[in-house]
Amino acid sequence: MGFEFRVTKRSQENQGRLGVLTTFHNEIETPVFMPVGTQGTVKAMTVRDLNEIGFKIILGNTYHLYLRPGVDIISEAGGIHRFMNWNGSVLTDSGGFQVFSLAKLNKITEDGVSFKSHIDGSAIFFSPEKVMEIEMGLGADIAMAFDVCSPYPSDYQTAKEAMERTTRWAERCLKAHRHDRQVLFGIVQGVTYRDLREASARQLLAMNFPGYAIGGLSVGEPKPLMYEVLDYTVPILPESKPRYLMGVGSPDALWEGVERGIDMFDCVFPTRIARNGTALTSMGRIIIRDAKYARDLTPLDPNCGCQVCSSYTRAYLRHLFKAGEILGAHLVTYHNLYFLMDVMNQIKEGLKTDTYQERKAEFFKRYNGN
Ligand SMILES: [Zn+2]
Repeated sequence: MGFEFRVTKRSQENQGRLGVLTTFHNEIETPVFMPVGTQGTVKAMTVRDLNEIGFKIILGNTYHLYLRPGVDIISEAGGIHRFMNWNGSVLTDSGGFQVFSLAKLNKITEDGVSFKSHIDGSAIFFSPEKVMEIEMGLGADIAMAFDVCSPYPSDYQTAKEAMERTTRWAERCLKAHRHDRQVLFGIVQGVTYRDLREASARQLLAMNFPGYAIGGLSVGEPKPLMYEVLDYTVPILPESKPRYLMGVGSPDALWEGVERGIDMFDCVFPTRIARNGTALTSMGRIIIRDAKYARDLTPLDPNCGCQVCSSYTRAYLRHLFKAGEILGAHLVTYHNLYFLMDVMNQIKEGLKTDTYQERKAEFFKRYNGN
């Protein structure tokens, strides 16, 4: 199987589309939400759980996997799929976001970034070439180019320099990337400056990547501003290639992103909040530790068809969290991922039958009504 993307239906109502992404492992219907498997595991979930819910592609974090266990060990195991026993597709990020947000930065030069590991403080140097070598070693289906992530807010000059360096690094990544079972996506940067986003998209387009991501969003800017960036950036990206909005995955942002033409999303949010006992439900978020659920013998979400909701009560889940039992984190994670899959299915149905606005209004009425 080679890499291919096909748009199968365009919405009559908005910029949204249905598609099929074929990777070296499977076929993925888009739009798609990709759970994040930071360190070679979607936290608290087995691959059997992920298959059961129907996920076909997950994310791996280059920065984390490089630090631990190390790319040599994963290579020896036959790549990230075999190492974690996952038969679906994998996308690895470039580590750019982590290097610029998590690690102690030493120096950023045109050549690359020197930083200290957040685990043991050891000195590490990431260049575009080095990141390509790591991502090829990890062996995901889709690798991401090494980009410079600017914080929000950034002044214009800082944003411009980061965007221009991202373009130059994308060229170097493309040159260094040699893998016949992995494709490389470019990342559009430019913070919230329209001319920078447009320039970034045009420069990357000239390099003819098989897919394009929009990076540097959902980093603290107000959501309407993020949607505005999508409004002017997405139309520049080619119709025939997948468009990936990085780090975004709240239910409302999925609806808003898809109708602006986004095909792929990822976010740690549903799994991270689950481990703190926050559930996403059709009626909004539920903090399961709240005292009001102590005697609540109803399911987490009465409208959810997942195993957790058909087997357990809010009172039981609250008890697990209050008692510090690890099963609580597993069950709420399972439900949250199932819930997002369900939201994406409603979104797809809306695209398919041109009932997007109607379904979206219905969803938000219930979701925000709580
Ligand atoms: Zn459920």
